[in-house]
Amino acid sequence: MFLRLENRYEVVSMKEWLSRDTFNRPVVVLTFDDGYNSTLKIVTPMLKQYSYGATFFFYSDRYKPGSKTYREIASLDGKIEIGSHSRTHSDLKKKDSATLFRELYLSRRFLEYETGLSVQGFAWPYGSYSKDNLDLPVLAGYTYQVGVGAQIARRDDRIYPRFTIKQSEPLEDLELYLEKFEVVLREESSRKKNVQR
Ligand SMILES: [Zn+2]
Repeated sequence: MFLRLENRYEVVSMKEWLSRDTFNRPVVVLTFDDGYNSTLKIVTPMLKQYSYGATFFFYSDRYKPGSKTYREIASLDGKIEIGSHSRTHSDLKKKDSATLFRELYLSRRFLEYETGLSVQGFAWPYGSYSKDNLDLPVLAGYTYQVGVGAQIARRDDRIYPRFTIKQSEPLEDLELYLEKFEVVLREESSRKKNVQR
């Protein structure tokens, strides 16, 4: 069974979700980390086929400067956003702030230079971070950051949780989560309406 997200949701990149004022349907943001070869070979053609937006978080040491991959990404249409997933993809939770800043700043500048695109988002490798360091991505020029967690992301979150989909997990689990999230959102909006009355 193939989950057809577009029948129920608007499927967009992080950048579009954060910058657009209104959506007609509930929003699903698709993100793909690490920059595996399959991201470009399998995911990108599917995104185009279904007109989905998405954000790719790359760690900059994965590809050499001048890599063909970067040229291919830069040539994709505007629905695809590039974010940083650090330089080395190490666990950054216990790193000192100088090392952290290098991971954040240099990866952003490298990806921007290689793709010619502006890089606004940062995805913490393994979703691992210290709460004390959440100001550093801001200092390094990012406008948003993402971690992991099976929760609904809210626009005013300091760091956005992401529901992880692994190859080993059935797609039905994702459908169940989406249904659960929708119920929560519907209940919240009906509570708000009742308060306004
Ligand atoms: Zn990763």
